[in-house]
Amino acid sequence: MDFWGDEQFAFFESILFLALGQTVDVLETQFLSGGDINMAARVFSSEGVFFVKWNQTPESNTMFEVEARGLNLLRKTDALFIPQVIGYGQQLDKAYLILEFIESGQLRKNYWESLGQSLALLHSHTQPKFGLAFDNYIGSLPQSNTPTANGFDFFFDQRLLPQAGMALYKGLLPKEVYDALHRLRERLPDLLPSERPALLHGDLWSGNVLVTEDGQPALIDPAVYYGFREADLAFTKLFGGFDQRFYDAYDEAFPLEDGFDDRVPIYNLYPLLVHTNLFGSGYVSGVERILKQF
Ligand code: ADP
Repeated sequence: MDFWGDEQFAFFESILFLALGQTVDVLETQFLSGGDINMAARVFSSEGVFFVKWNQTPESNTMFEVEARGLNLLRKTDALFIPQVIGYGQQLDKAYLILEFIESGQLRKNYWESLGQSLALLHSHTQPKFGLAFDNYIGSLPQSNTPTANGFDFFFDQRLLPQAGMALYKGLLPKEVYDALHRLRERLPDLLPSERPALLHGDLWSGNVLVTEDGQPALIDPAVYYGFREADLAFTKLFGGFDQRFYDAYDEAFPLEDGFDDRVPIYNLYPLLVHTNLFGSGYVSGVERILKQF
């Protein structure tokens, strides 16, 4: 019997038993598409509906653990809807993460304003250093969060440099571009505002914003760390999908320094390098263009 047969019920029942500490009957499962990395399902059970994702790669156990810790950190702020972590671990050679299932609804009135205000509220949570107490992942790539006092050093050494180094090593990024990136380092303090380390979602593209049953925004799949808050906003502009009302409401709640739009490409060097490493050299021209511009 393969996993798509009876075995899947046994798997879901065993992990729900471990998470809830009681016997759970799985009634029905629906497999979900859309994730880049893991398998995912909506699991209907005697104890309610759950979102479960799982994987068999060696690193997925750690990936789910730090995803759970990131979700808990965001959820603790009460800034916006974050699914509750029900459990995570490893069972029958599979690592898994169980979350509250977010039933999707229609955008309610003031949805975009609410997302802007909530993100501003999230970003009002600060700590003395950039980084985080644990490392995590951006997509499937490791993201280093070693606590650092200087935000420009953090952005360069722990965001841009590891990704650029990986892209160079993989033969995706030309050496001239890698060198040009290095020249940006000392200019960062003149190009970006020096702000306090703010709690960020860290992977804020439209696919990671869901709409709850009552029409509110919910965030999933974070790559949390304390960083420059403009990096989260810039991320939303990489592929778009966020209404202008979102930016206006954010700016009203937590005003940005003038010239944010001009700084967006600098922050987005990071996701562009990540995309280069994940999906190939198609993103390198974007990196080159930004480096020429600055
Ligand atoms: P991956 O880790 O592989 O990127 P995702 O977390 O993106 O997987 O999840 C896969 C799919 O499930 C996506 O379509 C996503 O929108 C949806 N999803 C993720 N978390 C939840 C949740 N808590 N409730 C309902 N749907 C979810």
